[in-house]
Amino acid sequence: MNPAVVRVTRKDALISPGLDAFKAEPAAFKVYTDRQMDQIPQLARLPEETRFDMKVVASVLPFRVNQYVIDELIDWDDIPEDPIFQLVFPQRGMLKPGMFERMARLHRENADKAAIQALAHELRMELNPHPAGQMEMNLPKVDGEVVEGLQHKYRETVLFFPSQGQTCHSYCTFCFRWAQFVGDKELRIASNQAHQLHAYLAEHKEVTDLLVTGGDPMIMKTRHLEGYLSRLIEPEFDHVQTIRIGTKALTFWPHRFVSDADADDLIVLLEKLVQAGKHVAIMAHYNHWRELKTDIAYEAIRRIRDTGAEIRAQGPLLAHINDHADDWAKLWQEQVRVGIIPYYMFVERDTGAQHYFEVPLAKAYAIYRDAIRQVSGLARTARGPSMSAAPGKVEIQGVTEINGEKVFVLRFIQGRNPAWVQRPFFARYDEKATWLDHLRPAFGEEKFFFEDEFEAMKSA
Ligand code: SF4
Repeated sequence: MNPAVVRVTRKDALISPGLDAFKAEPAAFKVYTDRQMDQIPQLARLPEETRFDMKVVASVLPFRVNQYVIDELIDWDDIPEDPIFQLVFPQRGMLKPGMFERMARLHRENADKAAIQALAHELRMELNPHPAGQMEMNLPKVDGEVVEGLQHKYRETVLFFPSQGQTCHSYCTFCFRWAQFVGDKELRIASNQAHQLHAYLAEHKEVTDLLVTGGDPMIMKTRHLEGYLSRLIEPEFDHVQTIRIGTKALTFWPHRFVSDADADDLIVLLEKLVQAGKHVAIMAHYNHWRELKTDIAYEAIRRIRDTGAEIRAQGPLLAHINDHADDWAKLWQEQVRVGIIPYYMFVERDTGAQHYFEVPLAKAYAIYRDAIRQVSGLARTARGPSMSAAPGKVEIQGVTEINGEKVFVLRFIQGRNPAWVQRPFFARYDEKATWLDHLRPAFGEEKFFFEDEFEAMKSA
């Protein structure tokens, strides 16, 4: 299919009053980091102590927010409870008391930048910056050399981290990739080598899915995204059937798909991939139904769906943000209403400010169950609660009693060994456990069925 022909067709079809209005006055992207926090007018209404706390936390964990999030998504009459405020603004509890006090002392003493940075680095190292064996286990090699910016954890899926997409339109306070955003180069995984991506994919015919991820790949200019993706329509990449793009731009900057200077080019690129026979999936990150409620967010969703790409929604379950079944039910219902497919409810990972956001697995399961009961079949595509742990994605399927023992019923949705997938296994019920590592096998067994094999993989 000639892309030029597609473009003409699309332009006609895309005309709508909403789109014209957004394009007539495109919003400029304005961002604030910890250095410009004081310039956010809405923060002036908060007590000085709260603002100090935020600065202390922001010197350890990354902070970045843009004007759209501040003006359109946060309800400033509901601070600090507002879920979007919690999602982007640092809170005192995000650092454990000992850590917070050490950093607060430096700020109170007006310590120099070098001292603050040195302590920040030390504290970050205590926050498990690379969960799930990212740095040791998932790095693919060609001729014994590590290919930068790729991860190949599951047989059929390769993750690609383009270097131009390693930041985001705003940062989530709970992000499991937070380590990439704090300037420590050793914590960053990224590549700008399109040829390495293409060489690896050409060689690995078992790979059916490419996941472009970040940061947020939608922060990239379309021409960069095109450099990575447009070659995939060539016959040597026929085995790569699905192109997934992980993004939170539909929440943080929907203008990317609507009124940014290269928004139309992006729409054309998505369409070109779809027309060439690729399954294109925008893996949208959502935490709260409020993220879907602006006109421009709706327009962005409409434009993407018009290309033939699908949008699947996923996000973690988080204390302070979305730990209520009703909010999840409303989120999934709203997604289905606008044509998005609910995909995953994740468990908050064991990194960063986990202690602040974590929800015990037992409670997470109850929230999932109570939410899924409220929605129709089309919204029951959401799987979960799922832990993206080092051996694989483990879903809590239920809580039951077997031979008088209360247990969690678990299964691998994805596993480092594909043979593990779908096999049910059982853990002793533990009301406080928040991650796979906390669980012990049920029925008096010493190990879970996959543990020996997984240990052998780690030392290979
Ligand atoms: S948008 Fe995604 S990668 Fe970026 S901060 Fe949020 S969770 Fe992390």
